[in-house]
Amino acid sequence: MIHGLNGDIEQLGERYLFAEAERRVAKFRASHPGAELVRLGIGDVTLPLPEVVVRALVRGAEALGDPEKFVGYGDSMGDISLRRAICERYARRGVDLNENEIFVNDGAKGDLGSICELFEVGGTSLIVDPSYPVYFDASVMAHRKIFSLEARAEDGYIPLPHGIPREPMLIYLCSPSNPTGTVIPRDALGEWVEFAILSGSAIVFDAAYEAYISDASLPHSIFEIPGAEKCAVEVCSLSKSAGFTGLRCGWCAISEKSPLHALWARRRSARFNGACRLTECGALAALSPEGEAACRERIDYYMAGAKILASALTSRKISYVGGLHAPYLWVDCPDGSDSWEAFDALLERVGVISTPGVGFGASGEGHLRLSSFAPHEEIQRGAERILSFF
Ligand code: PLP
Repeated sequence: MIHGLNGDIEQLGERYLFAEAERRVAKFRASHPGAELVRLGIGDVTLPLPEVVVRALVRGAEALGDPEKFVGYGDSMGDISLRRAICERYARRGVDLNENEIFVNDGAKGDLGSICELFEVGGTSLIVDPSYPVYFDASVMAHRKIFSLEARAEDGYIPLPHGIPREPMLIYLCSPSNPTGTVIPRDALGEWVEFAILSGSAIVFDAAYEAYISDASLPHSIFEIPGAEKCAVEVCSLSKSAGFTGLRCGWCAISEKSPLHALWARRRSARFNGACRLTECGALAALSPEGEAACRERIDYYMAGAKILASALTSRKISYVGGLHAPYLWVDCPDGSDSWEAFDALLERVGVISTPGVGFGASGEGHLRLSSFAPHEEIQRGAERILSFF
């Protein structure tokens, strides 16, 4: 018997959304060995890495095997050329960040959780419901209280800081949202920044899907909003834009004007020895003009898939949001069924794998998330099957 374990982790239970969905799919496969399933569930990319990234990885690996070029530990903030390239990317959107304000990481997920370490134990995390489950899980594991804010259909699933106590919180915002696919517009984001400054709160802005935004007037970064430099941390990733879900690279941006900057730098120096050098070579290539063009092709492909799904749903007047600025569609379950019932029925009756909305929070009940990270032929087949189901 080991004493003193983190009871809050135990309290979370074993059931992580995607693990449970996989378990049900595996059970179905075992009892239907010949079934040809259409996967519109987990949000992992399906297209291979851009050629320019692969070439950079090979060159990077060769350099590590060359006695003249070998280097061990790198800059723990991240390769300086990569950080500069990230700053240039921000500059193209009018955001002024310098290379000391970029912390390269091994993907967004880790930092989205470990940011909790900057805040006192027992503080409150404001979590939009529905949202990416990591914000909730990480906050609970860090012994934080949860203030749940429902993103309501009436507001287009855009979270707003209305009717909430003006007290310091760690506010998680995700735009474009996983799971609803909706983008927080500039004025609403402005309200959040104002609220954070007035209440002494911090905002963690998850921009993992920013590259999918197709309307030039919508903000890609919270740092497009004046004042955000005082209160926000932005976490971004190459996972969904450049296909790095396996390679692992992202970054955290914090202004030196924010007290969070020094704390994060200190925490990081104790916890992280820098991202993988090879990954950084690939990331730099992904941010080059050739890399960005290849990423754009991939994003366009996934969004064309979202359009196939959206047209099918629209043709049958099935209610949904999303699919415009993110590869996700947030669909109402048929006939008032709950989301696990609809997930099971869709799987068992027509062989389509979706994601049950309730896994993203209680307000996700009654919804399914469909993902367009799939080959178009599969999406087409999925769309036909969904229409036969609804
Ligand atoms: N943020 C959101 C909203 C996501 O959906 C995901 C992954 O699905 C992540 C962050 C994690 O991304 P990464 O692969 O960079 O850890």
